[in-house]
Amino acid sequence: METGLYIVATPIGNLGDMSSRAVEVLSGVDLIAAEDTRHSQRLLQHYSIDNPLMAYHDHSDQRAQQRIESTLAQGGSVALISDAGTPLISDPGYRLVRDMQSMGYAVRPVPGPSAVIAALSVCGLPTDSFRFEGFLPAKAGTRANQLQDLQSEHATLVFYEAPHRIVATLAAMSEVFGPDREVVLAREITKTFETVRRGTLEQLLTFVANDANQQKGEIVLVVAGKPRGEVELDEATQRLLRRLAQELPAKKASAIVADCTGLKKKDLYNYLLSVKGD
Ligand code: SAM
Repeated sequence: METGLYIVATPIGNLGDMSSRAVEVLSGVDLIAAEDTRHSQRLLQHYSIDNPLMAYHDHSDQRAQQRIESTLAQGGSVALISDAGTPLISDPGYRLVRDMQSMGYAVRPVPGPSAVIAALSVCGLPTDSFRFEGFLPAKAGTRANQLQDLQSEHATLVFYEAPHRIVATLAAMSEVFGPDREVVLAREITKTFETVRRGTLEQLLTFVANDANQQKGEIVLVVAGKPRGEVELDEATQRLLRRLAQELPAKKASAIVADCTGLKKKDLYNYLLSVKGD
């Protein structure tokens, strides 16, 4: 086995997704660094891999990194794995990869499953351009601010979300992006209860809120970007609409301006949603 640090992807649910190269590399390295050794032990036992195993995560002390480095310094090889999927994708390893590269060691990818790519591959939304946001902040206010920053992003948006926060997150997204924005819930990908459901934020919020089973397991949310063809309102209309919305509900303000200008009420309402909080 060539010396170097191997970043090895492992299955996100279905063991059949383990690549033969991943097995070969994990069986051949001198040391395996795992996010959670107990968790990874099950996967390694399945393939009868009993190479030396150590814990490595973002809060590991210097000794863990030194052990990896000294193995590489002696011309050995090390594999990094996380609990599931591709290491470094909302998982530990960034500092290790960077440090080993700056010390001149080879860092080699062994690609494979990752929930973000699996979800994109079945979402049925444009994937030519996407923005991966990982986990949103847990605090409602910070989360709303982050969503607001993404409101006018045209690229498809991908989020990881914890099951106990899924209803609150869909509600917050509906608030900020508008209830008509398309979203895909990709849950338990490659597992028994795999669910892929596309709808508007309003539809998906109702679906998830009314079914406790949809609030379980592992979840990726893929949200359509802001449509490029959305009407651009002239300065005067924007000002009028914003001023009216200070006095009236957004729906009423949109209806009045639509009456006076002949513009579509829905476009005006969407504009107001997009500037909400500005
Ligand atoms: N490194 C992993 C990867 O490449 O996908 C992601 C690790 S991150 C700590 C775990 C999150 O990924 C979960 O909370 C969930 O949002 C998503 N995830 C992982 N496996 C999944 C699956 N089978 N179905 C849906 N989402 C999954």
